[in-house]
Amino acid sequence: MRRPRDPDCPTVTKTFPTGRGFHPNYLAFSGTYQCNLTCRHCCVPIEWTDRLSIPVATRFLKDAAAWGIEVIGFTGGEPFLYPEFLLALTAEAAQQRLRFDKIMTNGVWFENEESLTSLLTKLREAGFTGKLGLSVDKFHGRHTHRLAVFCRTARSIFHRDNIISISYASPSPRDGLARVQELADALGAVIDWSPLLQRFLMVSPEFTITLNWNHLAPVERAEKLGGSWGGIWFEEDYCEGPGQALIVTPRGEVKPCCGFASDLDQLTIGNIYSDSLQQIIDRARRHPYVGRLFRDGLTAFRDEILARAPQALPGATSNHCFFCWYILTRGLVPGLPGGGGQVGNWTGTRTNIADELISLGLPAPRRPS
Ligand code: SF4
Ligand code: SF4
Repeated sequence: MRRPRDPDCPTVTKTFPTGRGFHPNYLAFSGTYQCNLTCRHCCVPIEWTDRLSIPVATRFLKDAAAWGIEVIGFTGGEPFLYPEFLLALTAEAAQQRLRFDKIMTNGVWFENEESLTSLLTKLREAGFTGKLGLSVDKFHGRHTHRLAVFCRTARSIFHRDNIISISYASPSPRDGLARVQELADALGAVIDWSPLLQRFLMVSPEFTITLNWNHLAPVERAEKLGGSWGGIWFEEDYCEGPGQALIVTPRGEVKPCCGFASDLDQLTIGNIYSDSLQQIIDRARRHPYVGRLFRDGLTAFRDEILARAPQALPGATSNHCFFCWYILTRGLVPGLPGGGGQVGNWTGTRTNIADELISLGLPAPRRPS
């Protein structure tokens, strides 16, 4: 699951009390990479079997709360495939009085309604007060009946009309709503644009569901989809929304965002098995890409590349995370290795823009016994 550039994201901060830079306020755990689906646009290495240790993640959560992190979310893979992790970390987050964001889910992982009811009831009892962020679009397949069962069950267990939010990936906000419309029909709901919220809402007597658009980024498995060099440059946003975050992968690696490029090794800022939270934040601020990105913005890298090697870019793109992924995988960022995606073909040994031959990938962290 990815939650790139979600306008509902609680990490969005318009003021920077200590100046621009990396000031995370959001923690998200990906307990498992694994998933019950195999979406063709997925940029998560769902083949990998790693699972995040519950005691190690719990310790990091406590440190994060003490440090001042206020919001927590869960992503994956499919988070509900590792329910003991989800329930344990939810209970600890409630204990620490963190504010809950979403659990990103495809909503079709359950065997039957009984097991779905059982797990969602345990989640409520663990103290979860956030939203269940469903991914519904053509890439996730047609699962309308099961999604409707998921929505109705969640509504009845949590007793909230806004328990569900929906994310959909497409080239523009008004495209890619066909599957969402099918779900609305199944739930007896209507979809309408909210000028106030600047997004679509799905509304019925039972539900008030916000629809969050993800700018589809053709990266990793989806690179062959193409179409991202549309001739218009992105506007600087200093990665607000998907960034200013600590996203912990099932291997314990920490990323500064949940954007489409965040699985790249180059965006790793530490590991919770071996680093303290303060070490991770200090490293992010010193990082040749992450530190500069949050201080000076993605446009700083774009302008530098255009000045130095304009032929290295096929055109202009309005998609921030696609551009980020492109310049990192092609070795266009000074001081960082090129190549280096974790799935697809972007692994192995490649040259960066300075023709330096660099072996990619980081050694697996040592795990506590
Ligand atoms: S549901 Fe999410 S994690 Fe699973 S395959 Fe699809 S995009 Fe990947
Ligand atoms: S542009 Fe890069 S660093 Fe920023 S949110 Fe997207 S993937 Fe993350």
